[in-house]
Amino acid sequence: MPAIFIGLGSNLDNPVAQLQQALEALRAHPHIELKQVSAFYQSLPMGPADQADYINAVAELESTLEPRALLAALHAIEHAQGRVRKQRWGARTLDLDILLYGRQVINEPDLIVPHCGIAERNFVLYPLQELVDADFNIPTHGQLRELLAVCSADGIRQLQDKETSG
Ligand code: ATP
Ligand code: CA
Ligand code: CA
Repeated sequence: MPAIFIGLGSNLDNPVAQLQQALEALRAHPHIELKQVSAFYQSLPMGPADQADYINAVAELESTLEPRALLAALHAIEHAQGRVRKQRWGARTLDLDILLYGRQVINEPDLIVPHCGIAERNFVLYPLQELVDADFNIPTHGQLRELLAVCSADGIRQLQDKETSG
C-alpha cells in the first residue's frame, strides 16, 4: 500500500485539542489506518498576520481510499470540527492537506499532489523528516534532505510532551 502523508493544522479553539481530535477521527475511520504521527509544532501564520500562531503536525496513513475520496474524507473531518472557509489562509479550527500519496503525481484544479507548498513550508518539512528515511525523495521536488538544507526553521518550535498532553 502506498504511504500517504497528510498535514494537520489549527489556530482556533484550542489547536492542540483540535489536532488530537482529528487524529482520533482518522483512527476511527473504517478505511484509514493511522501509522505514525510527528511531534506537534507551533508556527507563525502564513498570509494574514492578524491571527494566532498555528499548531502543525504531519501524519502517515494507509488507506484503501483513492486520493479524491481521501480528500473528501479529510474535508468531512474538517467540517465536523467546525471549519468555516472564509479568507484564504485565514484562521481555522482544522486544516487537513494531502501532502503525498505514495509516488503519485496529480495535477487537477482541486487536487494537487504532492501538495503545492510541500517543498518550502518549514512546518511541513521538519515534521515530515521525523517520519521518513534520511534519503526520502518527494516526487517532482527531490530529496527531502536537500529541501531541508535550504528551509529555515525560523518561526517554528517543536512542542514538548507536557504541552500536548491533557
Ligand atoms: P494551502 O492549500 O495553500 O495549504 P489551505 O489549506 O488554506 O491553503 P484550503 O482552503 O484548505 O487551502 O483548500 C482550498 C482547496 O485546495 C481545497 O478545496 C482543495 O480542493 C484544494 N487542494 C488542492 N490540492 C490539495 C491537497 N493536496 N490537499 C488538500 N486540498 C487540496
Ligand atoms: Ca493548508
Ligand atoms: Ca487545506
